[in-house]
Amino acid sequence: MENRYFQKEFETMPVEDIKKLQDEKLVKQVKYVYDNVKYYRDLMDEKGVKPEDIKSTADLHKLPFLKKDDLREAYPYGLLATDLKNCVRIHSTSGTTGKRVVAFYTQHDIDLWEDCCARAITAAGGTSEDVCQVCYGYGLFTGGSGLHGGSHKAGCLTLPMSSGNTDRQIQFMMDLNSTILCCTPSYAAYIGESLKERGYKPEDNKLKAGIFGAEPWTEEMRQDIEKNLGIKAYDIYGLTEISGPGVAFECCEQNGMHINEDHFIAEIIDPNTGEVLPEGTKGELVFTSLDKEAFPLLRYRTRDICVLTRKKCSCGRTFIKMAKPMGRSDDMMIIKGVNVFPSQIEAVLLNKGYAPNYQIVLDRVNNSDTFDVYVEMGEEDFSDSPKYITKKEKELQDAMKAMLGINPKLHLVAPKTIARSEGKAVRVIDNRRRYGITI
Ligand code: ADP
Ligand code: ZN
Repeated sequence: MENRYFQKEFETMPVEDIKKLQDEKLVKQVKYVYDNVKYYRDLMDEKGVKPEDIKSTADLHKLPFLKKDDLREAYPYGLLATDLKNCVRIHSTSGTTGKRVVAFYTQHDIDLWEDCCARAITAAGGTSEDVCQVCYGYGLFTGGSGLHGGSHKAGCLTLPMSSGNTDRQIQFMMDLNSTILCCTPSYAAYIGESLKERGYKPEDNKLKAGIFGAEPWTEEMRQDIEKNLGIKAYDIYGLTEISGPGVAFECCEQNGMHINEDHFIAEIIDPNTGEVLPEGTKGELVFTSLDKEAFPLLRYRTRDICVLTRKKCSCGRTFIKMAKPMGRSDDMMIIKGVNVFPSQIEAVLLNKGYAPNYQIVLDRVNNSDTFDVYVEMGEEDFSDSPKYITKKEKELQDAMKAMLGINPKLHLVAPKTIARSEGKAVRVIDNRRRYGITI
């Protein structure tokens, strides 16, 4: 169906060859980490595992896990595997779920990471004919630099915008004929809204594709963005601890992201027991990096919840696919004992024709959880008739109850009253934390 590959020799490798390559790399990498990272050596010793015990990926389950708390404990240099003089870059996580952690890169690490991003851009149709507008944040966040380097490698003309200053984004997009847009999905939605406000129709821009990631987003949001910008929207996944964006990316099928298995091994585990789950089962995603020199994490628990499947893909790539993560285990809210993900709320809103501008506020009154959802009305739909608003609120509330099993208190608010995001959107304000309630 599609024959654009940046690194065909890897991306379309027969599955047996991928396994063989992973086996060889894993044996070497475990020895390298054991010899060079005291923190992990101690964890292995504690578990009674020696590098010689790891003979292939079949032995991977014997290795200890690493968690974000280990990274915080070992901060900043405790997991570094090489001399600092061999490193050329530091990045940091966004700190979405707590204290930021840092990761180090040698030039070799940067090269491989940029290759991964170039694979993503190429899979989305990027070539030397394209103008690639990178509006992920530049700086400590990995989004900007990753896609920037990938865009160079894919041969696109790169527009290093960074995030924010939406007026300037739109001016350059129009004046310089950007064809590929890279940013968070929430910022893409905002850019779409801003274009419309300025009187542009989807066909007025030259964009053909968007590469959106760094936060969870629903299929409904994809359709919304595709319609408003007149593009194909591709998902991209990654995390700083493992390198950055490009650990996995979508191809023309747009139904799951191929994981770059020549560099990373993915497992799905039961988040409660740590047991490895069979392919096709939902659980927590765990990564082992096979080629990293500076910050080579083994069995890192991402807390992202998703499913892996290896089915033949019409694009010709053979790498296993991960489904869109539904969110992190720590994005999951427990409200009155019921598990709720923000993505479920987003799906209902978009299905009912609302834009993805919403905020969830949780609190506790008289020992009982309160659950408020604020949703913006569209300009066309806006009314100040209380009767009309109450009717619309009731409709949406019923749809949410049907999806979630519990009733939120719905508040329809005037257009443009919920803050827009230029990076990762903040969807949940959990005031229960001030009472020391941890969920
Ligand atoms: P932080 O963990 O502080 O947000 P990062 O900026 O490294 O730091 O973000 C990595 C995380 O972002 C991932 O673990 C995942 O939860 C989320 N993420 C990245 N890409 C996607 C995506 N395409 N879909 C859903 N979540 C994503
Ligand atoms: Zn594919």
